[in-house]
Amino acid sequence: MSLDWIAAELAAWDNAGLRRARRVTRPLAAGMIEVNGRPLLNLAANDYLCLAGDARLAAAAREAIAEAGIGSRASALVSGRTVWHAELERRLAAFEHAEAAVLFPTGYAANVGTITALVDREDSVFCDRLNHASLIDGCRLSGARWHVIPHLDLGALEVELEKARGRRRRLIVIDSVFSMDGDVADLPALVELAERFDAMLLIDEAHATGVLGPGGRGLAEHFGATSSRLVRVGTLSKALGCLGGFVVGSQTLIDWLWNKARPQIFSTALPPAVAAAGCAALEVVEQEPERRSRLRTLSETLRARLTDAGLAVPETSLPTPIVPVVLGDEGRTLAAAARLEQAGFLVAAIRPPTVPAGSSRLRISLHCDVTDEQLDRLAGLLAAFASPQAAT
Ligand code: PMP
Repeated sequence: MSLDWIAAELAAWDNAGLRRARRVTRPLAAGMIEVNGRPLLNLAANDYLCLAGDARLAAAAREAIAEAGIGSRASALVSGRTVWHAELERRLAAFEHAEAAVLFPTGYAANVGTITALVDREDSVFCDRLNHASLIDGCRLSGARWHVIPHLDLGALEVELEKARGRRRRLIVIDSVFSMDGDVADLPALVELAERFDAMLLIDEAHATGVLGPGGRGLAEHFGATSSRLVRVGTLSKALGCLGGFVVGSQTLIDWLWNKARPQIFSTALPPAVAAAGCAALEVVEQEPERRSRLRTLSETLRARLTDAGLAVPETSLPTPIVPVVLGDEGRTLAAAARLEQAGFLVAAIRPPTVPAGSSRLRISLHCDVTDEQLDRLAGLLAAFASPQAAT
């Protein structure tokens, strides 16, 4: 068969306004970004602690490059687990107060690899409807019977767990911070359900590592959750400013994933320089708590300003750096994002199919270098979109 059908599909996506644009950008200092030759405040990234451009991470990476070069040359299992990888695993385990850690090429790979290593056709998996695509793909790929749970609906989860009592194993998978709504999971209640129904509980701390909890260890630290049923997945690609996924837990769990998690076995290991930068990032997270307290203040202030202005900001029990402003209509959302861009702010316009029809939104991803003046100007611009006539 020829590939002509692809052009027809793309044309249909064009007509429906669904085709995604590709931009070329250049990161700048102080949380700025160059787009089409213009510097903008970057509120469309996950570099929450502004570590991606930090000189200490770059210096650590340069030092590793001088010795090891660029690529890791093989999968971790074969010969690619260098001293830099081993050191990062050791530091991640120590940072997360866990026995051991294992690295993956990305957070996506960590979620897919971990879920498929824990459950298969004889088991049941319970997945929140708004979980990240990597958790959803992991559930699908595992072959386990799958139960989609309405967002954060503990009652519905309990009903489904009850139905699955006869299954061999049960695994609940959940984001700690949801990437589209910026809200957080009720971890203590989930642990309680996991205990009651003898289930495992995988929590994806992608947007929480470095950000939540007194020491920046994520939602599990915030709630003091330490259950032996907990499988904690994180990524180095967001607040830690690098690349790569990881899982922390007991030595037994980590040994199992080392032997069983396919993306980790069959992909080339991270570049040693990235592992070296990851170690430097963990040091900054430990030594500079003011970065996450600044982020928290920014989130609280922006949320309060926007809600006072009458904008629809989904509620959350914790001030996470993801602040969505639901405008509903797609055209209105795109126009609002364009107007913000003209004013010097890059924010993501999120539309169906990423979110349900009628819930298009601006997603503001804060970072700790946003100044009071920038936040004030942004809140003022956004307040103008509160009336339905605005930004059309
Ligand atoms: N989990 C969540 C909740 C995410 O938002 C993302 C990134 N978009 C990932 C996992 C994947 O992480 P990575 O970018 O490291 O593959």
